[in-house]
Amino acid sequence: MSDMILELTALRRSFTQGDVTIDVLRGVDAHLKRGEIVALLGPSGSGKSTMLQAVGLLEGGFDGTIRIDGADVTQYDQSERTKTRREKIGFVYQFHHLLPDFNAIENVVLPQLIRGTAQADAEERAAELLGRLGLGERLQHKPSKLSGGEQQRVAVARALANRPMLVLADEPTGNLDEATADRVFDQFVSLVRDHGSAALVATHNERLAARMDRVLRLHDGRIEA
Ligand code: ADP
Ligand code: MG
Repeated sequence: MSDMILELTALRRSFTQGDVTIDVLRGVDAHLKRGEIVALLGPSGSGKSTMLQAVGLLEGGFDGTIRIDGADVTQYDQSERTKTRREKIGFVYQFHHLLPDFNAIENVVLPQLIRGTAQADAEERAAELLGRLGLGERLQHKPSKLSGGEQQRVAVARALANRPMLVLADEPTGNLDEATADRVFDQFVSLVRDHGSAALVATHNERLAARMDRVLRLHDGRIEA
């Protein structure tokens, strides 16, 4: 097993609308090692989400190379991308994207079932994660019956349910008040560390960034030295 979980080389992405082209990523070089929690810092519009979508194999249209766990995934077809996403990557978004008709535990069980985990094992894992996040009394609650911070913690549990080696978080606490954001973020970090995953966390919050192992600053489409 390589110690390098993520390697980005000369990653480029531009968007064209009409006759206007903007170069959002202009040659991003970056890497994450096993177990590192790294902030991706940059102002709004600097390309953080664009970069995470590339790394998460959610969007095509990039130039450059992406290696995940030693494998060059750049030329993967749709089914290989989906497989890598399911087996190796967990996502936390700013807005949780929980399934509204499923309760908390079901939202955390589902990605495990998709991955092929048996129902009983998936439920046990989900209850353990949600318990650690302080949601032991909220397992049967639908998202609409949970507070914003609670919803975001369910999203954290969902992202970690399959024990991904790489966690991608896009402004994971961006819609929470400061105190709640700090609490959710601490729990996120503690779970990621316990599991030994690497995490890349996009944020424009310098205070949260300072609590991670390392900071990557996205500026003018590149990572600042
Ligand atoms: P951040 O997450 O750092 O706020 P984004 O990655 O969302 O930044 O956006 C970076 C730039 O790329 C912005 O100027 C945005 O308008 C543009 N952009 C992002 N996605 C698209 C898209 N699908 N089509 C056109 N422009 C886009
Ligand atoms: Mg963004």
